[in-house]
Amino acid sequence: MSAFRTFSERFCATFGAEAEAREGRLHVTLPPDLAAHFGRAQLVLGFTPHDPHGELVAYGSQVFEEMMAYLGGHGRLAAVGLPVRHAPAPPPSAPGCELLAEEAVAERFQVFNFQLAFMCDERVERLFSVCLDEHGRERPEIPPLAAGGEDQGAAVAPAPSAVRAAEDKAVAAAEAWVGPLETAALARLEGIGARLVAFYEAQMREVPVRRRRGQSEEEAVAESEELRWQLRRELERKLRDETARHQLRVQVRRISQAQVERPRHVARYRLARGVVAREVAVTTDLHDGTIFWPACDRCGSAKGTYGLCEESHLACPACLGACAGCGTERCQVELAACESCQALGCPACRTPCAGGHLGCAAHLAACPGCGQALCPRCERPHGCGLDSA
Ligand SMILES: [Zn+2]
Ligand SMILES: [Zn+2]
Ligand SMILES: [Zn+2]
Ligand SMILES: [Zn+2]
Ligand SMILES: [Zn+2]
Ligand SMILES: [Zn+2]
Repeated sequence: MSAFRTFSERFCATFGAEAEAREGRLHVTLPPDLAAHFGRAQLVLGFTPHDPHGELVAYGSQVFEEMMAYLGGHGRLAAVGLPVRHAPAPPPSAPGCELLAEEAVAERFQVFNFQLAFMCDERVERLFSVCLDEHGRERPEIPPLAAGGEDQGAAVAPAPSAVRAAEDKAVAAAEAWVGPLETAALARLEGIGARLVAFYEAQMREVPVRRRRGQSEEEAVAESEELRWQLRRELERKLRDETARHQLRVQVRRISQAQVERPRHVARYRLARGVVAREVAVTTDLHDGTIFWPACDRCGSAKGTYGLCEESHLACPACLGACAGCGTERCQVELAACESCQALGCPACRTPCAGGHLGCAAHLAACPGCGQALCPRCERPHGCGLDSA
């Protein structure tokens, strides 16, 4: 879909004009204030050149300039709230889950629209839109205005830092366009230069030596030389003019901005298993239904099902284990294997023997002589002389 079509659809959606797509055109019914601006109540917008049944929306076309003029007066601080389409997330599946508090909050974004104009022998224009969150980070996933937002009334002016950040992005976008446009302009300039040089060189070659009455041969030659010099100076001037005309100038103009509020729901829960407890928050994007579950403390996955480790870690099912000795739930990584039977156990249930091997209660035995813990792997006798038992 062309950028002009998208622009036109968004324009209509933003200002409450009904747009119906038919045969590649948009049939638009304008609300009263728009009708007053355009001087007509209906528009048939076309997006292909030479369409006799539609008004072309393109740079410089009348209807596009009228839309831009309307934006100039109305788009600067539009405020739009994205509609609620989803219910808040259910509670997480976790031990002893209890709702503590819930609240509706709005995430606020600023959408900035820029007109980038590239001027040399040709004029090229581009629209550039950028959406920033409250921290000035780019959020391309937020659909600007197109999502059928509802008017929020008063908008809050964006912070100057946000405006600067948006302008920096627009300038960077413009810079990315400059390279190819400059290359194309240079190619055109070279073509024009070659034609000018060929033309003037032919002229200079063909300057005749005409001896007028009373003129000496030398005088006639000098006169034709002078003519050649004039032609050369003219060529140089024209080349300079063409070079100046092909110098690319860039203009970045902020044409409108809008504030978009995205509805969110935040619920705080207390999870508890015996004396172990912790709090977690679950955020739901009520517009698109995305649920932001808390992350597993071990692997970072956020899927909504958790266990609580003995040390209050929030662990997903894959990261949670249990001690084979005392049965307490633990993060897998906190469990160690008995070097004799490989069963996993918690730090309290896995102690090293005199030889440094980790063992479970069943595989460690105290030497009747010296009392040191010994496991089946340790060599006997181990030196105290009373360990043969
Ligand atoms: Zn995990
Ligand atoms: Zn244990
Ligand atoms: Zn843990
Ligand atoms: Zn064991
Ligand atoms: Zn011993
Ligand atoms: Zn041992």
